Amino acid sequence: MKPLHLVTPYWPHRGLPTTGRETWVKMDAHQPTGSFKIRGIGLLCQRLQAEGAERFVCSSGGNAGLAAAYAARAIGAPMTVILPSTTPGFMRERIEALGAQVLIEGDVWDAADALAQAIAARGEAAYVSPFNHPYLWEGHASLVDEIAQAGPAPDAIVVAVGGGGLMCGIAQGLERNGLKDTAIIAVETAGAASLARSIEAGEPITLPRIDTIASSLAARRVADAAFAWTQRRTVVPAVVSDADAVRACLRFVDDHQTLVEPACGAALSLAYDDHPALKPYARVAVVACGGVVTSLEKLAGWKAQFGV
Ligand SMILES: *Cc1c(COP(=O)(O)O)cnc(C)c1O
Repeated sequence: MKPLHLVTPYWPHRGLPTTGRETWVKMDAHQPTGSFKIRGIGLLCQRLQAEGAERFVCSSGGNAGLAAAYAARAIGAPMTVILPSTTPGFMRERIEALGAQVLIEGDVWDAADALAQAIAARGEAAYVSPFNHPYLWEGHASLVDEIAQAGPAPDAIVVAVGGGGLMCGIAQGLERNGLKDTAIIAVETAGAASLARSIEAGEPITLPRIDTIASSLAARRVADAAFAWTQRRTVVPAVVSDADAVRACLRFVDDHQTLVEPACGAALSLAYDDHPALKPYARVAVVACGGVVTSLEKLAGWKAQFGV
């Protein structure tokens, strides 16, 4: 099976303050759907199809839904994407343009996800989770294979955490490339810090509510597997503000000519702000996870909102 994702550039970060640290950026914003999601969702759909699935259902108003639609078109299978009503209209249009059927359910992801799971439970379609499936993690792990092949291994890899699917993939990728000592720096915004709170509590917890503009990080609870990795490897939680994330997006668009979501800006902000979590590490890789639920106009709005 030919992967549905591309090998993305891995290059030295431009525009950083001089710290004596070597910082690299993995440009997954340059995937065909604008985020890393196609790595895992592509493999998940291919594997489920090989196991007999004929049609699929995914719940996501964002990059997972877009990747699911792209993957389904590539493998010639029907895809239904359930969106919460809060999804921007341009995302619905992009998902439909790839040939997927769109249904609107509820006004938060949990409601849309409940419908997707109900459709799957009735046997009408195979469920495509945005962040919680071993095949998905295996697909995301390809990102680390590419970093490992590119050159000297990083001491730390900085990654945004929503439901924790990307983090699980990174952890798995580090394991399978023998990178035992590479730390994972897991970044969330303060209003969606479900992993950081779980690490504090010593067990997976569910946030009562979400309060962040980084919509792709808006999971009230991370996958159990993501929490489990924190018990098995060095995972350093870092929590930043929405303003930090927006400031990083603004700098990144100039430094790398690439527009990304605040979810990605959250991870990028650590390098820009020389965050204390980076201090012990001499060579750091930052995952520019991308995201297309944004626009120049939205970024300008956040810039004004946070006065950055
Ligand atoms: C999905 C997503 C995340 C978070 O990934 P999880 O696997 O849910 O932790 C971060 N950034 C972007 C752009 C995303 O699309």
